[in-house]
Amino acid sequence: MTTLSAPLLPGSTLGVLGGGQLGRMFVHTAQAMGYFTAVLDADPTSPAGLVSHHHIQTGYEDAAGLAELARVADAVTTEFENVPATALAALGALRPVSPAAGAVAVAQDRAQEKAHFVRCGVPCAPYAVIETAAQLAAVPADLLPGILKTARMGYDGKGQVRVKTATELAAAWDSVGQVACVLEKMLPLALECSVIVARGADGACVHLPVQRNLHRDGILAVTEVHAGNLPDDLARQAIAGAISIATGLSYVGVLCVEFFVLQDGALVVNEIAPRPHNSGHYSQNACDVSQFELQVRTMAGLPLTQPRQHSPAVMLNLLGDLWFAADGSGRTPPWAEILALPGTHLHLYGKRDAKPGRKMGHLNITADSADAARATALKAAALLGIAPF
Ligand code: ATP
Ligand code: MG
Repeated sequence: MTTLSAPLLPGSTLGVLGGGQLGRMFVHTAQAMGYFTAVLDADPTSPAGLVSHHHIQTGYEDAAGLAELARVADAVTTEFENVPATALAALGALRPVSPAAGAVAVAQDRAQEKAHFVRCGVPCAPYAVIETAAQLAAVPADLLPGILKTARMGYDGKGQVRVKTATELAAAWDSVGQVACVLEKMLPLALECSVIVARGADGACVHLPVQRNLHRDGILAVTEVHAGNLPDDLARQAIAGAISIATGLSYVGVLCVEFFVLQDGALVVNEIAPRPHNSGHYSQNACDVSQFELQVRTMAGLPLTQPRQHSPAVMLNLLGDLWFAADGSGRTPPWAEILALPGTHLHLYGKRDAKPGRKMGHLNITADSADAARATALKAAALLGIAPF
């Protein structure tokens, strides 16, 4: 594994695997700080590829593409957690790669991820690994009702089946093709939250404040971050848990840790993402250091300073659904009216085609109080056609 001997200063080239919206916002931030950027993504119109100095249009397993990325970039990160670990390992032999292949491999696999939570002593949902018919037959009855989740490649609630009985579980395992899965006990959730931590190669950790998240149909819809969005002791526990998960992985980079708060007040870790996360987007406008700047700093070996949130914030996700009227005809959301509301910050990802459920952008709302941020966010939601929260 290649490591940095000195910080990579502006003027160097930072590379990212993946050309989605997270890559695009990383590229924007890196460029604002004076870096050159390189994106590897096969899609010629990928959101990040469109705005990067270099765009290598190959798949993640293309040896020539990876070699080209290593040639132009001084360090490499990822914006997509399902990048093959082999690609990260190949790049890691040539250039500093953060997060490292081993940490990404843990985040890619729910069974490994949960074993890591257990090792770190951070409570997670009771679960069983199902890779064989014998393991399916041996599932303890008290894990039902539960959620069967494919161990790999799930996102936005995809690859998940809710099951009540052993018969439904067996049918669900068939329906996902009997691939490796975990069955998680269905927990009584009071709320969901997440924490972004950034950890440097020297082990220094900083974090963003704890985000309270509302999901709809398995997709993040709203994130609220302000004092009082969550009891202080829970917020402290979530930050401590996130830091111990990052430290246990010897993680370098930005890591998002998602948690459930149960109805009895217990905090339970759900999953990790080895990159900036949708729930951290408010930091672009509400914090003095955003999650994307943290990504730049960690991969470049620059110092980490504790970010400070200067404004209470609400983030609304802008899904492709908002580009369609009730009768199914296309429409443009009323941007001018939304931007007439004070403290609204529009982020669109440059995707040409809106599709239901597709992440097209987000709207950050900042204000001088949590009440004011919420009030403006509710007005914006009404204009957009997003249900109140
Ligand atoms: P992401 O887009 O965050 O990667 P994902 O597809 O990986 O999503 P999860 O985060 O595992 O999926 O689950 C999606 C949502 O389903 C959670 O945010 C939560 O609302 C609900 N959920 C998941 N697991 C459980 C559980 N064990 N008990 C209750 N609800 C759950
Ligand atoms: Mg999730």
